[in-house]
Amino acid sequence: MTYKNFTVETDADGIALVTWNMPDKSMNVFTVEVMDEIEAIVDATVADEAVKGVVFTSGKAAFSGGADLTMIKGMFSMLHEEKVKDPANAVQKLFDAAGRMSWLWRKIETNGKPWVSAINGTCMGGAFELSLACHGRVASNAKSVKLALPEVKVGIFPGAGGTQRVSRLTNAQDALQMMTTGQTLTPQRAKAMNLVHQVVEPDQLITAAKQMIKDGLKPVAPWDEKGFKAPGGGIWTPASAQLWPAAPAILRRETAGNYPAALAILKCVYEGLQVPFDTGLRIEQRYFTQIVQTTEAFSMIRSLFISLQELGKGARRPAGQPKSNLSKIGVVGAGFMGASIAYVTAAAGLPVVLIDRDMEAANKGKSVAEGLVTGAIGKGKMTKEAGEKLLSLITPTEDYGSLSDADLVIEAVFEDRDVKKAVIEKVEAVLAEGAIFASNTSTLPITGLAKNSKRPEDFIGVHFFSPVEKMMLTEVIVGEQTGDKALAVALDYVSMIKKTPIVVNDTRGFFVNRCVFRYINEAYDMLIEGVPAVMIENAAKMAGMPVGPLSLNDEVAVDLSQKIMKASIADLGAEAVVPEHMSLINKMVDELDRRGRKNGKGFYDYPAKPLKKSLWPGLKDLYPQQKPADVDVTVLKQRLLVTIALEAARTVEEGIVTDPREADVGSILGFGFAPYTGGALSYIDGMGVKVFVELCERLAKTYGSHFAPTPLLKDMAAKGETFYGRFDPYGAVKTAA
Ligand code: NAD
Repeated sequence: MTYKNFTVETDADGIALVTWNMPDKSMNVFTVEVMDEIEAIVDATVADEAVKGVVFTSGKAAFSGGADLTMIKGMFSMLHEEKVKDPANAVQKLFDAAGRMSWLWRKIETNGKPWVSAINGTCMGGAFELSLACHGRVASNAKSVKLALPEVKVGIFPGAGGTQRVSRLTNAQDALQMMTTGQTLTPQRAKAMNLVHQVVEPDQLITAAKQMIKDGLKPVAPWDEKGFKAPGGGIWTPASAQLWPAAPAILRRETAGNYPAALAILKCVYEGLQVPFDTGLRIEQRYFTQIVQTTEAFSMIRSLFISLQELGKGARRPAGQPKSNLSKIGVVGAGFMGASIAYVTAAAGLPVVLIDRDMEAANKGKSVAEGLVTGAIGKGKMTKEAGEKLLSLITPTEDYGSLSDADLVIEAVFEDRDVKKAVIEKVEAVLAEGAIFASNTSTLPITGLAKNSKRPEDFIGVHFFSPVEKMMLTEVIVGEQTGDKALAVALDYVSMIKKTPIVVNDTRGFFVNRCVFRYINEAYDMLIEGVPAVMIENAAKMAGMPVGPLSLNDEVAVDLSQKIMKASIADLGAEAVVPEHMSLINKMVDELDRRGRKNGKGFYDYPAKPLKKSLWPGLKDLYPQQKPADVDVTVLKQRLLVTIALEAARTVEEGIVTDPREADVGSILGFGFAPYTGGALSYIDGMGVKVFVELCERLAKTYGSHFAPTPLLKDMAAKGETFYGRFDPYGAVKTAA
């Protein structure tokens, strides 16, 4: 029998080697077709008497990335279409679809012949669950091999037996920790947790897997044997009596109750360990069906799985532009940002010329890359050879002439219009025709900067976030005259350095910083109202933000906020900044010298290690304090999220952001907007625009007109629209007006 996605070769010992290698994909993923073929392979190998056992592996560098986008999209559209017609039947269909993989893996487990999974590369989600259903698991010890059940990160959980098998193979505490955080395991860690049986050299993988079968591997899972007991003895033991009462409290501390899927994992394990295995699978299938219907699951899968991949693959790339052939990149300004931009560029294998005002400054920039390489080698994340190769690609120089054959030049010099103007002119004097110039400015509109250029169609913004080597987002800013080629080159470059781009039109602060300033400004308002600072920070965390607004302000520097506020007043007039905010920040910077983490004091105090940072007690004396009992934390949480979501909606209304996927993904990757919401616009869509508008109106009455809903929102509320409906990323984009 032949298969589209698999080859099956049976050797003289009767061991069938099943190799998964999807012809039209770079990564093996589960589709309905793949599952059908796996089922056919199970049936065929069971029926074939010559087959004594099966080794299942991948023909690609990675084992598998898990489920396919289209399958997940299909499941959601089926749910929505059926729900309209017949809600009860829709849930039944979802339940059946959710169980397909689970019961297929169970079929492998109980087929009567031994199966061994030979894990040759990254093995995620459903693929790891398939492996767990095999009777033996051998993993290669190659650095690229990573194992994980990361579903919780996109709002669902391992629903193909993962919760039941992991908790029967390893102790409940490790099982919960691994699944509720979506932790990635090395093969060695997976072996220590009893999740794989052997870790071998890559070239020994198939031999070792076959040997397990030859050695008489029993085709029966431990839990199908009589007298099976889960590690630690199951639920009714003294050790479990320590773990289980604390587990929901620990989860709540970590997630503030915002992630229903994480709680469902606890329920599946707790309930599943008390019943026979098949009943446990059924419990898991029921919770999975429930979780898939939550707004959190829908929004997180859409933004963090589907949109993230679509944007990464160039969803916003202009049509008709040939793929750029980038062979040399220039970075001008080897300071804080430029040095790291050179590093990530070289890490993608691209030669970089790193220019500064003199050789000393350029070399200093390269030394930053050297430090990053040394750190990565120290942590075992990079080999010495790869580090040397990377550094050999960065050429520090003061000579602009070396930019003559660069395909793209990124400018990261001082945030000063005159300095940038001089640099643009110097670069353009040598730059080849057709090469692109990008500015990493964080505050200066691109259209204005492009006025210094003789070729504004080749001028674009590529805005990185710090720390560049860690932040996954890059904002690509299209000026009024920026051409399609510049956009295509910028997007191709961002894709080469493995970051996710969002394309935004030109505006002061672009998308991310506009939203971040709203978040921080709301905290200023709260401080001025006398809300205790600790409540502000805690409310932010309870709302799902990774960093409180005051802590965030310390990280970006309080004096930078002052600089930006002063620039806004100079450019736009006094009304551009709330006067009380300006006085608060002037007092912090000019009177108190509290500039943020960089000088050891800001809204927080930063004592020497090992002491931890803590809120500066003097904040209490700045404004008359409200009693904590008089402050409604729910309202604080709403204010912090709503102010950001409103700003995101304004950027759509102004035509700055044209695709809701970009606002959502940008808000999560850029500043960690409560990921369980799916991002700033999904937060609005998730509660419904009408409800959001009413919430804004209530907040505006008490906390100021900056909460007033915009005309677009009111119009959408009246028409019952959503952002993804009105600005459908897959259909014709309608106008904001
Ligand atoms: P920085 O002061 O650390 O570095 C600027 C570098 O530019 C210095 O090394 C300086 O010597 C060099 N330089 C100045 N004039 C030059 C010239 N004429 N020719 C060549 N080199 C010159 O500043 P930074 O924080 O790296 O910021 C650089 C740019 O990146 C700014 O536009 C800033 O707005 C933007 N940015 C900064 C951040 C951040 O977090 N710091 C984030 C995003 C964007």
